[in-house]
Parts: sequence; structure tokens; C-alpha cells
Amino acid sequence: MAKKLISSVRGMNDILPEQTPVWRYFETVIRQVLDSYGYQEIRLPMLEATDLFNRSIGEVTDIVEKEMFSFTDRNGDNLTLRPEATAGCVRAGIQHGLFYNQIQRLWYIGQMFRHERPQQGRYRQFHQIGAEIYGIEGPDIDAEIILMTARFWRQLGLDNLELQINSLGSTEARVKYTQQLVDYFSAYHDQLDDDSQRRLRTNPLRILDSKNPQMLPLIKTAPQLLDCLDTESQEHFAKLRELLDQTGIKYRVNPCLVRGLDYYNRTVFEWVTEYLGAQGTVCAGGRYDSLVEQIGGKATPAIGFAMGIERLVLLLLQSDLPMPNNAPDAYFILVGNEQVTKQGMYLAESLRDALPNLRLVMNCGEGSFKSQFKRADKSGAKLALILAEDELANQKITLKYLREKRPQVILAQSELINYLKNLD
Ligand code: ATP
Ligand code: MG
Repeated sequence: MAKKLISSVRGMNDILPEQTPVWRYFETVIRQVLDSYGYQEIRLPMLEATDLFNRSIGEVTDIVEKEMFSFTDRNGDNLTLRPEATAGCVRAGIQHGLFYNQIQRLWYIGQMFRHERPQQGRYRQFHQIGAEIYGIEGPDIDAEIILMTARFWRQLGLDNLELQINSLGSTEARVKYTQQLVDYFSAYHDQLDDDSQRRLRTNPLRILDSKNPQMLPLIKTAPQLLDCLDTESQEHFAKLRELLDQTGIKYRVNPCLVRGLDYYNRTVFEWVTEYLGAQGTVCAGGRYDSLVEQIGGKATPAIGFAMGIERLVLLLLQSDLPMPNNAPDAYFILVGNEQVTKQGMYLAESLRDALPNLRLVMNCGEGSFKSQFKRADKSGAKLALILAEDELANQKITLKYLREKRPQVILAQSELINYLKNLD
């Protein structure tokens, strides 16, 4: 009887070899930009105490209310697969004393887990690259991270992203504003969808973040947070805008931008595209000056952002930009007796010694010339290196171009390294 196949867990994807070159390319570009701004990598655990997220993200957010993968382990401890990395980063910073009179510019990459309804650009396991900066009140650092994210897109060649910014003001200003919002939306209670009715009770600001188009007219005429800002936050926001104007970064002030999580204050921003349907936000961030203290550390100003790698990879794949693939530079065909295999292995190893960047695939597992040639072609290699008994006897090697109409080349084996070094 056939065994029932076990599939991956819903919403958790395998990233197959066909796609990994694009992921690696993306990660390389982003790392290079992060390095160029002097940010340092931090590697954090995927499992944290559930309390960490309850305390930081906020009990009445979507994430904590319904999206966390939480369980009790064998010791009875309540653990959660991280839905985001900011809380873990703050936890690590406090635990290792990274925040005492120090400025930290940190970044991370890794899997996040949220129990959402899977669809294009929204999964239960997804990947983020993010940065967190501690010890600077801004707005200079706010501008720096926005400029850095703009540089990511430039380096990648993506030009279809819009920057939206807003200020959430101080906690006190937000409390005052929230009351105005509750009064306003309560007057239209019947017109609110279920989500918004629930949020009216639990987290009214989040109504502004609604993805339901039918809610938009009501949201448009709601009182605006920017009109309630405290003076200091107003100044902070004005300075940030000046810095952005001065560097020529285009942005739109979106007064409805509130972000999904509870802990933000002052600057918030998102990079949004129209090309991914409802999952249009590829990068989101903001200031969270009270979180370190809230988790038990000394009060420390902080700002950060996270980008969804799946969404950005989708954007890259949808674009006309040239993307790397897995094709090797050369495929080594070996036809003949055992001596051929031995000499072939020896040659391949000496090529790898001399040219560490050369991507060379050896034909292992024998086969006729025809079948090896087929494999070489299928591999996508530019070049086939052919060693048969003739070549062995004369210490030669034959090169065939697989993608271009070019005559085949016969070289002395001793010339091979030099020839490949100059390969275009
Ligand atoms: P959304 O409103 O799309 O649910 P969010 O506000 O919950 O996003 P954040 O917590 O700010 O998202 O996460 C930062 C980024 O991570 C998002 O802008 C998005 O690119 C990506 N992201 C968030 N949730 C998912 C998911 N379930 N699948 C894939 N990417 C995600
Ligand atoms: Mg979400």
C-alpha cells in the first residue's frame, strides 16, 4: 500500500534551488549596503518566552491576539516562535548590556512565524531582514535608516516603491487622539466592518490601518493624528522631512499610517508598491522609544525597520531586471577508461585551486558522450570541457561553447587555467 505523503506545513514554503540564486543575490546586495553604513549583524533565537511578545507587541494587536505559534514545552514553559525580531533584539540588548551609554546599529535576518491566512506575499513562515538602532533620539538617525532603505532599492534596481511617512507623536498625544477617534467611529458604528468594530474596543488606531476598501471613505474623514501632535514631535517630524527634502528622497505624508504594532511612537514609515496586490508593504519601520524600558531595561531611544524578503523577491522576479541563476561556468565531460577519470579529477581540482570563483560541475556517474553532453547542456553551462582517451594521450583538452556559435577549441592541459581565467 502506498504511504500517505507528508507535505510541508500550510503556509511554510520550501525555497527551491531555482529561486535560491535570487534570494542570495538579494541578501548580498542588502548586506553590502548595511556594511557600508557600519551596521553590525546580530543573530537571535527563533524561540522566545511567550511573555516577551505579550509585553512588547501589545496584548490587543493582531499578532498577539491570533497570529502567534505558541506552545508549552516539556518543562511547562510557554514559548513562541518569533513573529518578529524587534522584541528579541531588545531582550538580547538588555541581557548583554548593549545599551549602557552606547550607540548600537544592529541588523538581523531570519524566519518569522505568524498564523495568518496564506496568500501571495503572506505566509506562515516568512523571512525578514531588519535593522534596529539604539541610543539615538533622532531625527538624524530616522533619516539615515530611511536613506539606507532607499539605497537598498536603488542598488537592486527597484524603482516602483513609494515611501510613506507619518508621526505618531508622544504616548500622551496618542492617548488624546485615540479618544477623538473612538468618539468619531462610534458615531458610525453600523458602518464599521467586524474587524473595525472589534478594534474600536481593543485598539482603535488600528482601524486606520484597515485593508478593507469599504472602510476607506470613513477613514479619510476621521480626525487626523498629525493635528494632535505634541510640539516636540511636531519639531522632530519637521526636521526629518527637511533632511529627506535636502537629500532629494521623495515621500508622501500618509496621516493614516499607524503600523500594526503597539510600541511605536513618533516617526513611522513604510515602503509600498502597487505591484503585489493587497500585500503591498515591503518594508516597514518606526521609532519605539519606550520599548526597552517596557521590557525591563534602562530607557533607551530606539528605531528600526523590517522588510519582507518574500515580497521583495516577488517584486524582483516580476521585474525585467536580469536575475542570477544556478548555471555553472563549465561542465566537465569525461569519456573513456579509469585513467581519464583520474586525470579529469586532477584537472578539475587544480582549476578550483587556481580559480576559486569558477563554477565547475564534474560529470560524476559516467555515461556515454551523448548523455553527458545532454547533462552539460541542461546544466546551463557556458562551456563543456571534454576529456576523452585522445585528449588524455596528447595532454590536451577540448572546449565546446554551449550557448554561442563559436568554434571548438583544443588546448594543451597546461594552458587551461590561463584560458579560463580570461573567459568573458
Ligand atoms: P501586513 O500589514 O502586510 O500584515 P505587518 O504590519 O503585519 O504587515 P510588520 O510586522 O511591519 O508587518 O512586518 C514587516 C514586513 O514583513 C511587512 O511589511 C511585510 O513585508 C513582511 N511581512 C509581514 N507579515 C508577513 C507574512 N505573513 N508573510 C510575508 N511577509 C510578511
Ligand atoms: Mg500583519
